[in-house]
Amino acid sequence: MSNLQRLRESMVRENVPAILITDLLNIRWVSGFTGSTAIVLVTPNDACLITDSRYTLVAKQQVSELDIVIFARPQTLEECLAEHATKYGVSTIAFETSQSYAAHQKRSAALSQFEWIEAGEILTNLRKIKTHEEIKRIKAACQLADACMEHTVRLIQEGVKEFDINLDIEFFYRRHGAYLAFEPIVVSGPNSAKPHGKASDRALQRGDFVTVDCGALLDGYCSDITRTFVVGEASERHREIYDQVLRAEIECCDALRVGKNGRDIDAHARAVLAEKGLDQYFGHGLGHGLGMNVHDPGGLSPTVDQPLMAGMVFTVEPGVYIEDFGGVRIEDDVHITDIEPEILTHFPKELIIV
Ligand code: ZN
Ligand code: ZN
Repeated sequence: MSNLQRLRESMVRENVPAILITDLLNIRWVSGFTGSTAIVLVTPNDACLITDSRYTLVAKQQVSELDIVIFARPQTLEECLAEHATKYGVSTIAFETSQSYAAHQKRSAALSQFEWIEAGEILTNLRKIKTHEEIKRIKAACQLADACMEHTVRLIQEGVKEFDINLDIEFFYRRHGAYLAFEPIVVSGPNSAKPHGKASDRALQRGDFVTVDCGALLDGYCSDITRTFVVGEASERHREIYDQVLRAEIECCDALRVGKNGRDIDAHARAVLAEKGLDQYFGHGLGHGLGMNVHDPGGLSPTVDQPLMAGMVFTVEPGVYIEDFGGVRIEDDVHITDIEPEILTHFPKELIIV
């Protein structure tokens, strides 16, 4: 079933007569269109993508399930939308609350003949459950993240700067036809105690933890992987922290099963770290949804009541961050299935000393 068909099913179930999609990722999700200007109107029987002449050919190539409407000056986008909404017999339109207040005010004033209602979570909830096609793309992005990690580990050695590793990660992804899913994190020594630290001109030293967190944006879908290495020689303390984070990570990946709640998996990670008194150093949530956004809807966290369903994809990323010493985070991407969790990132996670 296509995403458009899935949306229509939900609309009928939730009694939404028509929806105007303005978020570009949601537009891509429902239509395949990747341009930077468009709106999409969907009703249970009709659907159109409205864009301008810069995207005539792109729309033709990418959009097959929706009518393609090219508006040209002097007609405005709003007039074009009104024309098609009227043609489709629409009187009430649900709008996405993610657009700016100003944009919504302007549109609803210009199109006051329609009743405007909030679309709620309808698209967010659908995007949490990935289709077979979406899983395929996430897997491809994960494969590239594994390859990038393999490439990166060869660069990690005493004297190399965090900046240089960071830059090489970007080159690697771009060279392979992908973009960065997010600015890569390369932090070493005391810097590795910052979970979202920025790469600096610090040169790696013997005895450093080095955390590398990076992901590809490939074909519209993201991956997200983290590994922590030790430079030169690992102390007892390095090993004790690393092993405990690793155990939490492995057990939580395995626990991602249909019927469980994400909150409880997060609590399990904290319990494992608490065995060694390390839970106090784990401040962030265990994981987040992954898809078109690197932080897709949904999460594994004490504050999110998230029943797990087949088709969801989460990161699992416990961490321990100790000021003036360093930190460890290990992160994999996991697809929840009806049978057992499918781990999508495969780079080895035993402690690697470089
Ligand atoms: Zn990450
Ligand atoms: Zn992450």
